[in-house]
Amino acid sequence: MSHDHDHDHDHDHGHGHGHDHGHDDHHRPRPVSAIELRTQALEALLVAKGLVSTDAVDAVIDYYATDVGPQNGARVIARAWSDPAYRRRLFADGSRAIAELGFGGEEGHTMVACENTPSVHNVIVCTLCSCYPWPVLGLPPSWYKSLPYRARVVTEPRAVLSEFGLELADDVEIRVWDSTAEVRYLVVPMRPAGTEAMDEDALATLVTRDSMIGTGRALAPAAT
Ligand code: FE
Repeated sequence: MSHDHDHDHDHDHGHGHGHDHGHDDHHRPRPVSAIELRTQALEALLVAKGLVSTDAVDAVIDYYATDVGPQNGARVIARAWSDPAYRRRLFADGSRAIAELGFGGEEGHTMVACENTPSVHNVIVCTLCSCYPWPVLGLPPSWYKSLPYRARVVTEPRAVLSEFGLELADDVEIRVWDSTAEVRYLVVPMRPAGTEAMDEDALATLVTRDSMIGTGRALAPAAT
């Protein structure tokens, strides 16, 4: 799908990395209602031309809403927590390491994993629209696409994270990663304490969507 793309590409807000939004399949920054309208118009046209059925469109949405979702990312994180060699590969080449587990494709061809540590906390955003790592997280939550999140997580990340219930000490550096059409980020949360005896399947249940966006932490293991 191609879009007009006439917005200003000089979009450096000084956080984390260079920013170069893409040209081929990136959404223009426009009101959500306009995007929805355009999407509906395109779907209606494709259906009218007999190129796709509404069922097929629904199937794609269902696929990303249910079959693909944060459970994929949780597998990646649990593996990274369990397997030091995998963890190294994940930070060296995110796309390739994620593909080892069978995840990849649309909206996630180039993936970069961001490592949370006691001194660094990472959080992802798309300041221009809603770029998001679909293969590992599924479809973005509505707040991720909202203008307040997109603007404020850049200018006042600590306050925004606090509103998510994530309080970070003043000496923890917050790095904000601005997703683009080309590069999508996955936050690797810290492994919770008390999980030393847990296997990958059990660890994966502790990995929340928000912990991989950076607006939350991984869950503590249930008290036994
Ligand atoms: Fe975007």
